[in-house]
Parts: sequence; structure tokens; C-alpha cells
Amino acid sequence: MQIQLDRIRDEPFQWQESLEIDPSSLDHGDLKGLSPVRWDGEIMFTDPGYYLRGRLEYTQNLECDRCLEPVAAEVSEKVERLILSHQSQPAEELELQEQDMNVIHLDGEEFDSEPILLEQLQLNIPMKPLCRPDCSGLCPECGANRNQGSCQCSTVTVDPRWAALAALKDRSQPDGQGED
Ligand SMILES: [Zn+2]
Ligand SMILES: [Zn+2]
Repeated sequence: MQIQLDRIRDEPFQWQESLEIDPSSLDHGDLKGLSPVRWDGEIMFTDPGYYLRGRLEYTQNLECDRCLEPVAAEVSEKVERLILSHQSQPAEELELQEQDMNVIHLDGEEFDSEPILLEQLQLNIPMKPLCRPDCSGLCPECGANRNQGSCQCSTVTVDPRWAALAALKDRSQPDGQGED
């Protein structure tokens, strides 16, 4: 949404949107789907700059990093930004503001709220999504989902390769050491 900032000096601007975002517009292979994103907010003149306060609500569909089952995660998040227009404020004044807040710099008075939304959506995708914190994942031997009970493989306590090595070791044990 394009917002003309110089028109909201007297009265805050409020919006309520529901946006369809194509998951492929975000750079993340694990994102399988996105519900419509509810994006509400308000911008007010705070001299210097403008204060944006918004809220995002949506559901993202991911894939569990361990068991590959689908995961639907609900997101509800507050967004806050200070918007500074370089045309109307001296640079020294702006630098002070930057230290304490998330600042957006603008060259004019026209502000687009969509880049912030996309940036937040991107940040909210977990690096390793899990269906639950203690997900047991897939069995490396047979590929069974271990959250759904144990497979045949899990009864084998010793890896067969180690068992073979142990047998070799037994055989190489010298029976009698004193040859001379
Ligand atoms: Zn899982
Ligand atoms: Zn198995």
C-alpha cells in the first residue's frame, strides 16, 4: 500500500489489509504455503519522522526438518518502525534516532508498506521447522516415522558393522604371549 506521508501530519493513517502472497516470492525452499496475510496498522506523525505500528496474522505451511511431515504454524506478530524522510530532516538529527529503533529511510514522502511485510514474512520462516520440539524423525535404516511407533530396526542395539569388528578383535587376542 502506498501512503503519502505529508498528508498524515494532522491525522494518523490506519489500514487493514488481507493480502495473498505467493510463497515463491520469498526466498525459502521450506515454505510450502501461506494463508492470506492479515496486515493491519497505523502510521502517525511523530516529528521527526513517522511512527508505524502494525500487526501481522497468518498461517505458514512448512515441512518438519526431521520427519518431513507438514507443519502449519500460526504467526501473530507486532511490527514497529520509525520512518524518516531525508528530504525534510537534517542528517545529524536522523543518526540519533537510528540507535534505538528499527528505522526506515525514505528519499521522499511516499511510503510503501509492502516491503516491510515481505521482510517480516521472510524473517519468520524458521531455519529448521519442527512438527514438535521432541520430534523423533525418520529411522535412517528403513525410513519409518519414529513418532508413529518404533520400527523393526530399533530393536537392534548394536550396529552389525561394530559386531563384526568386535568378533575380529576377539580372534586376534593372543592365547599365549610368551613365545620366547
Ligand atoms: Zn517431525
Ligand atoms: Zn527402521
